[in-house]
Amino acid sequence: MRTLAPSLVLLALAAAPAAAEEWSRARIDALPDAAFAVVEIAPDGKKLRHLPHHDESGAVDLAHLRAARQRLSQVKWLDPASAAAAGRHLEEHERRLGLR
Ligand SMILES: [Zn+2]
Repeated sequence: MRTLAPSLVLLALAAAPAAAEEWSRARIDALPDAAFAVVEIAPDGKKLRHLPHHDESGAVDLAHLRAARQRLSQVKWLDPASAAAAGRHLEEHERRLGLR
């Protein structure tokens, strides 16, 4: 699947040129929990934050919203119910933005 990533990035770039830059790990780490579709808590208490798609201001980033949709099925969820919750969260954004 790793070889597919560049083409997915290109699709995101083509669709949303204004907000397409990749976010660095440091930038993602600095985002609040609310920037992610789902936050899971591992048995050891560690937070697992999945599918970032809001920027520091809380605004939805279109390129990352698309990327989150594409990565939904690739995430290793602690709880399978989290996948459905994340899907609903992302769909709600798409509905409000008129993307579906
Ligand atoms: Zn969101």
